[in-house]
Amino acid sequence: MIHSKYDQVEFLNKQCTLLEDFVINDQINAYDLEKLADLNRITLQIYAGWYPLVIELIQKLDKLGWDKRVSCIKEKYASLRFYTDNKYDDLIEEYESRSRHICEICGERGENRHRGWEQTLCREHHLENTRYIHFDPNGFMINDVLYWWSDITNISTDEDQKYTCLWLKFRPGVLPRNDWNDDDQLFVHDSMRGYGELLQRLLQESIPFNYGLRNHIKIHFSQVEFCLICGYEAVYYKKCECCENLSDKGYVSIGYKPGELDQEKIKDLQLDWFLDDGELFESQNPFYPKNPEHRILFTQEELEERKKWTFDF
Ligand SMILES: [Zn+2]
Ligand SMILES: [Zn+2]
Repeated sequence: MIHSKYDQVEFLNKQCTLLEDFVINDQINAYDLEKLADLNRITLQIYAGWYPLVIELIQKLDKLGWDKRVSCIKEKYASLRFYTDNKYDDLIEEYESRSRHICEICGERGENRHRGWEQTLCREHHLENTRYIHFDPNGFMINDVLYWWSDITNISTDEDQKYTCLWLKFRPGVLPRNDWNDDDQLFVHDSMRGYGELLQRLLQESIPFNYGLRNHIKIHFSQVEFCLICGYEAVYYKKCECCENLSDKGYVSIGYKPGELDQEKIKDLQLDWFLDDGELFESQNPFYPKNPEHRILFTQEELEERKKWTFDF
């Protein structure tokens, strides 16, 4: 008796062994989708949050007479890829663009998140994977591991001098072994919350490191500002660590004119921040101080209006 992953579950195509016999109707579920992948000899390379979207897509394809052949179902650049006969390209593109607004983990409303790679996630799943840096007079902590200032021997940055990450070199043997440090170096990235403060603090410690990098930190990270969008004190250099929006300086650096981050644009980004549950999460887990004078520029009606068109996808 061969056991399979489907033994304990019930679904429409459980007994199906031939692609031709595979039934697509409004009863099919995630197991049917996995079975369809098996029958096509492919593996689903997406997380479960997108399964309902793909199920809906194959139901529509079926109505167009699709032969049920698919050579790949995966995530790429934070959106869905579904490779089949190119006569269905228009429909598939529609689902690709819908996937850009759906959390790949849970299926709730999501946004494109950058963490060295891209993924579409809701705020909850985004923050679940986000690393936090906490501070202590003797050092800093990431995931409950304390790193001592006095153990750092050198600091370097990315070769293209974008300063979005740092490698902190430690005395040999002091780093715990795990998957994100290597060669006595600890990798820190600006997607980590607390990155800006870490840079500020590194400057105050007597750690020998490169003049250019030291100067860059001095100019761009020695002052933290309140964000006009989320209101938290988290703006370093070109962007806000909290809502992850660009600052006025950040917009200028990508070609906008100074001041183009005007009231209208701020209002627009504030609406996105609220719809993304940003304020909800930040008020529950305060990581940054909030500007008591921060102003919300949109009205309740405008929020309701925005909800309507973003959920219409
Ligand atoms: Zn989610
Ligand atoms: Zn912000």
